[in-house]
Amino acid sequence: MTLPVLDANPANIEAKDLIGRPYLSPSSISTYLRCPLRFRFQYVERLEPDFTASSLVFGVGIHAAVEHHFRKLFADDRAATVEELVSVFEQALATEANQEIRFGRSETADTLRDLAARMLAAFVSSGYSKPQGALIGVEEGLAGTLIDGVPTIHGRADLIGLDATGVLRVTDVKTARNAWTENTIRESTLQQVIYAELLRPWAEALGADDVQAEWLVLRKTKTPAIDRHQLIIDDAQVRQVTNTIRQVWRAIRACNFYPVPSPMNCGGCPFRNACNEWEG
Ligand code: SF4
Repeated sequence: MTLPVLDANPANIEAKDLIGRPYLSPSSISTYLRCPLRFRFQYVERLEPDFTASSLVFGVGIHAAVEHHFRKLFADDRAATVEELVSVFEQALATEANQEIRFGRSETADTLRDLAARMLAAFVSSGYSKPQGALIGVEEGLAGTLIDGVPTIHGRADLIGLDATGVLRVTDVKTARNAWTENTIRESTLQQVIYAELLRPWAEALGADDVQAEWLVLRKTKTPAIDRHQLIIDDAQVRQVTNTIRQVWRAIRACNFYPVPSPMNCGGCPFRNACNEWEG
């Protein structure tokens, strides 16, 4: 499926000036919400990160393997083997090897590979690897202007499917150490609401009755588990996300950048050196 043609959006020109690219993304908006100073280092100053966290590289590898699985299912209607997926994971890891990867305690490239193999085996043997209904897209680029005066929003949906009840569903694949809580779901909602809104024209074109979202969470436990969390999107959530994006864009335009130090934010922040030297 091809992307809808974008309207010319004057805010994109301003975004290009401010952050070097003529659009926002769900991850850039989430970064601003977590720590506006980190947003500045990453998107305005475009600093090289001090390191890359192993969890990030691991997530990229798992993501590449799951993408390969769904692409193969989409193209050939045939599932990939676990060995094939582990090989895709290893290739993705090798691509990242030129960066300084910060491993956790007792972690090595080998322990990560073994964990990935167990997680991918659990994924392949779970029902979630064979979604019901029609596959519409894998790693599909989405873009659109959702709010007047705010730049176009770009994103990439892991999986889009149309189920038998006429619901167009966007699936986001995540890895996590622990089971998700209500709070985790709440913190992750912004991206999925954005994707669902960007998919409204697709739903119309496909004759779908509704757009909903879900997450597949591959857990990094000794015996890996795959959890599915559904998000039923209502108008109140859309209004809240829309207003949040509007406020974030207003703050970026006003160059409103300040640190939000907390163990959760700063523990894995790759801009700590720049942050320590920042004087406001
Ligand atoms: S170290 Fe913490 S406060 Fe500083 S930029 Fe990173 S996340 Fe923000």
